[in-house]
Amino acid sequence: MARISVVGTGYVGLVTGACFADLGNQVACIDIDAAKVALLQQGGLPIYEPQLEEVVRRNLDAGRLSFTTDYAVGLEGAEFVFIAVNTPSGPEGEADMGQAQAAATAIADHLTGPAIIVNKSTMPIGAGDWVANILDKRVRPGVTFAVVSNPEFLREGSAVADFMQPDRVVLGSNDRAAAERVAALYRAPLKCAVMVTDIRTAEMIKYASNAFLAAKISFINEIAAICERLGADVRQVAQGMGYDRRIGAAFLDAGVGYGGSCFPKDVRALEHMASVHGSHPQLLRTVMDINRDQKRVVLQKLRQVLGTLQDRTIGLLGLAFKPNTDDLRDAPALEIIHLLCHEGASVRAYDPAAMDKARALLPEVTFGRDAYETAQGCDALLVITEWNEFKQLDLRRLRRALAFPLLVDGRNIYEPDAMTRLGFIYCGIGRGQPVWSPVEYLAHETARTLAPIS
Ligand code: NAD
Repeated sequence: MARISVVGTGYVGLVTGACFADLGNQVACIDIDAAKVALLQQGGLPIYEPQLEEVVRRNLDAGRLSFTTDYAVGLEGAEFVFIAVNTPSGPEGEADMGQAQAAATAIADHLTGPAIIVNKSTMPIGAGDWVANILDKRVRPGVTFAVVSNPEFLREGSAVADFMQPDRVVLGSNDRAAAERVAALYRAPLKCAVMVTDIRTAEMIKYASNAFLAAKISFINEIAAICERLGADVRQVAQGMGYDRRIGAAFLDAGVGYGGSCFPKDVRALEHMASVHGSHPQLLRTVMDINRDQKRVVLQKLRQVLGTLQDRTIGLLGLAFKPNTDDLRDAPALEIIHLLCHEGASVRAYDPAAMDKARALLPEVTFGRDAYETAQGCDALLVITEWNEFKQLDLRRLRRALAFPLLVDGRNIYEPDAMTRLGFIYCGIGRGQPVWSPVEYLAHETARTLAPIS
C-alpha cells in the first residue's frame, strides 16, 4: 500500500486516483475547483465515464479515496504526487503550462517530506526538468524529491479499463530508483509491460504516439477523398489494409476527423516544439490541415444536394468528440455547428451524454430529446458521433421524420445500399457512391414509388 496524492481530478486525475485506490493504495485527490470536490466527496461524478462512478464510490466507502481543495491536507504523508492538471493549447499551439506551474508551485510550498513527483499530464519535452526546477527553488529545507514522467494513454469512454489493462506503462526519469518505485505501483497489481527510460524520451513517447494516431486518421481521410472520386469504398479499403498486422485496423476509420482534448492540442504542441527548435514538421502540419478540411467536407456534401444552407434546418446526431464520453473539447460537432450557423442554417442536435454541457456552450442550437425528435422536419441529418444508439435506430421512422431525406453519415455507420433502398439520399465519407442533386433524387423517388423495394 502506497500513499498517493493526485493533483487535478479531471478525466485523467480522477481515473488515476480512483484506480490506484482500487488497487489498495491510500489516495488523496486535490483540485482547486471547490464545486467539483464537493460533488466528488458525495460520490457524485462531474464527468460521464463508464464504470468510474462505481470505482469512486467503492473506494470512498472503503476509506481509501478522499477529495480536498487543501494542498496541505492532500499532500500529508504523500510518497507519490501525480500531477494530472490540464495542458491546453496556448495561442501559438504550444502547451499552456499555467495549470502545471500553479500545481508544481503549490506542491513545492506544501510538501513536508520526501516524495516522488510524477508528471502524468501530457507535458512538453523538457517539462521534467522544468518541474524539478520549480520545486528546487521552493521546497522547504531538507525536503527531498525526484521527478518521474509517466504519460497517460487512457482513452475517454474506456478510461477505467485502459488504466487497469494498459498496453504499456511508460516511465522516464534521470533517477532510475525513483522510476522503479513508480513502476512497482503498476507492475505487480496490473502485470503489465513497464518501460523505463530517460525523462525526455518518455515525454516524447506520448506526443509521438498521439501524433501517429492522428496521422493514421488523416491518412485514411485523404484516402477517403480519393475513393470518393474514383468509386472505391474506403471502409472496405481500410478493412483490407487492417488485416495486415504491420498496419492494423485501429484508427483507420474515415470520417469527420479527429477531435477531443488530446489529439488536436498534442499535434499542435509537437509541431510547435519542432518548429521552434529548427525542425520542419511537414507531416504534422499536413495531418492538421487534412483534419481541419475534413469538417468542411460535411458542409460541401450538404451544399451539393441542398444548394444553399440558408434557412435550412439541419439535424445533428452526436456532439461529444467520440462515443461514451460527454467531452466536447475540440469536438468536430462544435465547428460543424459553427459553420452551419454561419451559412444561415438552423441546427437541432442530440447527444446521449453531452446535452447538459452542450446547452451551456451552444445557445444557438435547439435540442431534441432523441434522434427521431431531432430529425423531425429537418432538411438533412448529419451523424457526427458514432454512438451505438445511432447504429440501432429505426431507420424507416427516421426517414419518415425528415422533411427531406438527406443523411450525411460523418462516421460511416450505415450501409450505403441499404440506406438508398430505404429512401435516403445517403452520403458517407469516401464510400464511392454518387451524390444526388434534388432533380436526380426526384427521378429516383418516382422510380422507387413505381417499383418499391421493401
Ligand atoms: P481536465 O481539464 O479534465 O482536468 C484538469 C483538472 O485539474 C480540473 O479538474 C481542474 O480544476 C484541475 N486543476 C487545474 N489547476 C489546478 C491546480 N493548480 N491545482 C489543482 N487542480 C487543478 O484535464 P484532463 O482531460 O484530465 O487532462 C489532464 C492531462 O492529461 C492533460 O495534460 C491531457 O493532455 C492529459 N491526457 C488526457 C487524456 C484524456 O483522455 N482526457 C488522456 C491522456 C492524457
